[in-house]
Amino acid sequence: MKILLRRKDLKKMLDHTKKISPKEACGIILGTFEGDFATVERIKNTRNVLNSSVRFQIHPEDFINALNEAERMGWEVIGFYHSHPAKACPSAVDERFMRLWPDKIWVIVSLIDHSLGAYIFGEKMEEVEIEII
Ligand SMILES: [Zn+2]
Repeated sequence: MKILLRRKDLKKMLDHTKKISPKEACGIILGTFEGDFATVERIKNTRNVLNSSVRFQIHPEDFINALNEAERMGWEVIGFYHSHPAKACPSAVDERFMRLWPDKIWVIVSLIDHSLGAYIFGEKMEEVEIEII
């Protein structure tokens, strides 16, 4: 699996992450799946209702808005992103939620160096290659 991310969408995600830091930023990734490729069409920055530096929960109103936009545009939710005060790999809590959202891509932004990691939990945890286009 590979995720294709446009430079402007990467910037939108990183800008939001930096603005919210040291709180965890979160968002919904809309786009399309085609074979082994996921193409990002829109990054929806969302409110973290937990207002926490170690946990996130997407505001339900932002979630509904993103779903409506996906439906209107013929896209789907291809995944979620959030920031970490640590390395860009899934925590135990992330893994628990990833199991509840199988086949969605989780992009994690490290607040340490703004590096990105992407993961998907199908039958097991797998890393997703990120290609900036
Ligand atoms: Zn996390």
